[in-house]
Amino acid sequence: MTESNKESAQPSFATLGLAPDVLQAIVEIGYESPSPIQAEAIPHLLEGRDILGQAQTGTGKTAAFALPLLSRIDLNLKKPQVLVLAPTRELAIQVSEAFQHYANKLKGFHVVPIYGGQDYRQQLRALDRGVHVVVGTPGRVMDHMRRGSLKLNTLRCLVLDEADEMLRMGFIDDVEWVLEQIPREHQTALFSATMPNQIRKISETYLNNPALVSIKVKTTTAETVRQRYWMVSGMHKLDALTRILEVEETDGIIIFSRTKTMTVELAEKLSARGFAADALNGDIPQKMREQIVNKLKGGQLDVLVATDVAARGLDVPRISHVINYDVPYDTESYVHRIGRTGRAGREGDAILFIAPREKRMLHSIEKATRQRITQMDLPTREQINTHRVNRFKQQITDALGKEEHLDFYRQIIESYRMEQDIPSLEIAAALASMSQGDSLLPMKRESRKEKTRSEKPRKERTSRDSRSSKEGRNSDRKEHRKGGKSAQSETHKKNSSNKPRDMVPEGYERYRIAIGNTHNIQAEQIVATIADTAGLFHDDVGAVSMQSSHSTVDLPAGMPRDVFRALRKSWVSGQKLEIEHIKSETSESRPPRSKKHHTDEPQSKKRNKRKGPAKGGKAGNTPPKKRAKARKPKQDK
Ligand code: ADP
Ligand code: MG
Repeated sequence: MTESNKESAQPSFATLGLAPDVLQAIVEIGYESPSPIQAEAIPHLLEGRDILGQAQTGTGKTAAFALPLLSRIDLNLKKPQVLVLAPTRELAIQVSEAFQHYANKLKGFHVVPIYGGQDYRQQLRALDRGVHVVVGTPGRVMDHMRRGSLKLNTLRCLVLDEADEMLRMGFIDDVEWVLEQIPREHQTALFSATMPNQIRKISETYLNNPALVSIKVKTTTAETVRQRYWMVSGMHKLDALTRILEVEETDGIIIFSRTKTMTVELAEKLSARGFAADALNGDIPQKMREQIVNKLKGGQLDVLVATDVAARGLDVPRISHVINYDVPYDTESYVHRIGRTGRAGREGDAILFIAPREKRMLHSIEKATRQRITQMDLPTREQINTHRVNRFKQQITDALGKEEHLDFYRQIIESYRMEQDIPSLEIAAALASMSQGDSLLPMKRESRKEKTRSEKPRKERTSRDSRSSKEGRNSDRKEHRKGGKSAQSETHKKNSSNKPRDMVPEGYERYRIAIGNTHNIQAEQIVATIADTAGLFHDDVGAVSMQSSHSTVDLPAGMPRDVFRALRKSWVSGQKLEIEHIKSETSESRPPRSKKHHTDEPQSKKRNKRKGPAKGGKAGNTPPKKRAKARKPKQDK
């Protein structure tokens, strides 16, 4: 094995030995020179050698295998000669499209993507027509092999694309199964962004004296991506986000959040604030996911709120901004995330929201990427106000430039002016008000008072609960105990769904925490810590009822174990939270799973154990209506 990591002396595509038709296609697509992984891998693959290729995401691995394999395809043999396994449907489609693209000079060439969640019949028809290349997710490929609809006796090359991701998603058993079934005599190419041990083991078992091509890029992130972070402080992340989106020059935007639920909620909240936003997560049926990505590509959508897994490998050139709304789990994920922007040498922006206690992650990222991430300030009120006004002025200028209806309107305004004897400026101001409503009015200073008003329900609860005198506290407590309807519980409508406060609201469960009034900690601080640790909106944290040495808090039902563990370990102002679930008659010792805080993780892990052909994930089969309902245990906002 030879390890090479040359980066200089890049050969041109013409010297690599690709088939003329393939070369012609690349020239037309406009690739100037091969990327390092392409330059290294293509000659080996053309020779028919096995290869173990490692290079960061966004470095052109697809073409690194597609171009040489296409160069060797036998167009007369209308049978699968190349099989590519990819971790997700999106990637399977993307790779399949890339093949199609690079093969546009190859007459009669056929490639088909096969993946779970899509109708079998469509895939069977495509396979029946005769294809040269099959790109599929491991489970669905396995199903077709079992059914006999995918015969691989003519296979010449197997590609494992994004192998580390397949491992991470629990597909490795399926991959090994496929590897066991295919003809002994074949070429194998394994591409991966990272080389965990298990991948190495697979390559030792299944690859035959592979050429090892490892491209160690100086920095793992594109240099064309400007990276900034905002230290989460003093403002809700959603408000910070909207401020940023308002003044940044953006095109397409991907926002990463940790949980599927959060992607939906955040997308809804952004839509409500006037952004063309949608969510992308593993629960959304495949068809819809494709449509969503296409909308982003086509500009009908500007903001995609996604989980790591759902957005992995997305290649949408117009993405100008990646926003890490929640900090990524590790530096790898960060690199993958921001690799969605700055594609193919364009410029891009990455913004990371990071809480003070997550600072260590910031340093790890800087170390891993060997790039500085600079601190950014939120746009000030003045900047936003100026920006809004300027934008409006620009709209006026644009409208004046478009002559179309101006004549007609001029007549109306003129007659109005004459009839009413009102100066043009006054009329213009009225029209501006009609067209802009209050959206241009200067943002006001967020005084404490104002904040309190806007968050009334919680603030009331907070101040009363945490600052009441001993006497007050006791009576408060009694009132809760009784569960009686009082004037106070009326004011908590929002948080208690119109039920007495002692009832846990629907979709919520009650927890006990080891912080009480004696600790002199504000309920607000507790809410903030819980929300940040659990990946919840502050609004989703239910009522905190403080007692002397402990408190109770209502949290969305179905807290995943890892979140619970993280919460158990967290501290608020030097006091351990020591959260415990309070069992009610209806709930088990462990909270039942439901819709809030789900991550992509458990589902993909589950796949590991899945037997039989029911592939595609239950996500794909969930009717959207039902999902939409399930998403919102709380309807009261
Ligand atoms: P990876 O699989 O390594 O993450 P991709 O294969 O998805 O990367 O390629 C990333 C982007 O780079 C794609 O948009 C692709 O069209 C583009 N690309 C690939 N090779 C070249 C090249 N030689 N020159 C310019 N752009 C390229
Ligand atoms: Mg790839």
